[in-house]
Amino acid sequence: MQRVASVLLLLSLFTAGNLKFCAPVAAEVSIIINNTDAAKVGFNDPTAVTPVGGNPGKTLGAQRLNILRFAADLWGSVLDSAVSIVVQSTFAALPCDATSAVLGAAGPIRAFANFPATSGPVHSQIWYPSVLANKFAGVDLTPGPPDPGLLQPPYADDMVAFFNGALDGNPNCLPGNWYYGYDNNPPSGDIALLNVVMHEFAHGLGLSAFINPTTGEAPLGLPDIYSTYTLDTTTGKHWHEMSSGERRASAGNSGHVVWSGPAVIKAAPTVLAQQPEVAIVTPKALAATVNATPTAFGPGLTAKGITAPLIVADDRSGTRSDACTPLKNRVEGRIVLITRGTCPVTWKVAHAEAAGASAILLVNATSDLPTRQDDSDPPVTIPTLTISDTVGVTLSIALKHPPVVVTLRANPRRLLGADTQGRVYLYTPRTAEPGSAISHWDPRVTPNLLMEPVLNADLDAGSDTDLTYFQLQDIGWKAPESSDSSSQKEPPTVEK
Ligand SMILES: [Zn+2]
Repeated sequence: MQRVASVLLLLSLFTAGNLKFCAPVAAEVSIIINNTDAAKVGFNDPTAVTPVGGNPGKTLGAQRLNILRFAADLWGSVLDSAVSIVVQSTFAALPCDATSAVLGAAGPIRAFANFPATSGPVHSQIWYPSVLANKFAGVDLTPGPPDPGLLQPPYADDMVAFFNGALDGNPNCLPGNWYYGYDNNPPSGDIALLNVVMHEFAHGLGLSAFINPTTGEAPLGLPDIYSTYTLDTTTGKHWHEMSSGERRASAGNSGHVVWSGPAVIKAAPTVLAQQPEVAIVTPKALAATVNATPTAFGPGLTAKGITAPLIVADDRSGTRSDACTPLKNRVEGRIVLITRGTCPVTWKVAHAEAAGASAILLVNATSDLPTRQDDSDPPVTIPTLTISDTVGVTLSIALKHPPVVVTLRANPRRLLGADTQGRVYLYTPRTAEPGSAISHWDPRVTPNLLMEPVLNADLDAGSDTDLTYFQLQDIGWKAPESSDSSSQKEPPTVEK
């Protein structure tokens, strides 16, 4: 006999983030929205609007609810459970100002441990969000009609989701408005609600650490299913194997906390970009390989890459190597080194491309790892990498004795945002961010992913759920295909 333990979580997480889906198919689990807003506000706002982007709603409230139902159907179509999921939701105001906002917040309402499971594997002494506990129990552990209001007893609903109702028509709450289309085609500055809802629902479906990363403490001393895949590579311990103090330290161990689930590890090479590298081929005395950062534009590189002589851009104007005006030196078939300057990156790239360069190395102004550049307007047809100032100086010194030949290539054994074993980094901010830390991917992942702590504008959750679905598989939503569970460290004990 196992005593069933349950705990009320009453909200865990904040913020927004990104997903991959085909057209919704017959739902495998029914996800029901419990609208808790009062009359005439939020989901019940009667303001007349025009249908947009496939959303047929004719009032603001209807369009908002439609997006939640659309997201519910998308997730429902790929999850397996005999028990319906009830999401209680509100569109009330959340914190925001002119430049930043909490877009949404969501999490499981209640968690269960040691419940009677009819399928599994289910680990004892481990919390499961009620949605997963219900799935494994085969019955609704919190039966009853939808709860009468927001976070009100008897807490029969499974998830709670908040979306920021202050955004629309309010310039003091971000300059843009919500976009209610299904097609991820918001006007510039607006935010597609669908991406945010897909992100928040994923938290509610179990992608949330119940352990407080600031204190390291677990509810009633029991760790949760998410923690069994939260691995600190410095100590080699998962979070469910740690003391509160160890977890507190691990929460800030940036670059050393990864997700160890086999489904995500298997999928990561198909989702994350490979680490670009610059190898100095000639002169041999300077032979070295350094990491570069990809740009968000231009074609990617192969493992073989591009090998060509390196040359510094020269536009014979101002800072001659900044390529802010058309190039005057011959760069055809060469890899062009361009320094940072006062003009947009788009111009530099266009000038090098027009002059026939085969690839571009952009030097970043600081010695930090360069960040990705902005998207450029016309499509870029040659690979462009950014390199640190330190690497730029090394190459400039080498170029005093030409020829210098370099290879730009991608390293298939290193993924951007994963460790050397292909395990994706979790978000471990230096300063405490309860609700965000651990429950998201490290923002260094490339390309941007749905479950990052901050929403990125290039997401398309209606058609691409990137690693999110695989992470849901790891915690128990559908078994990952042919995963080798023997290579995984198992949580403490497994119930019969
Ligand atoms: Zn989040």
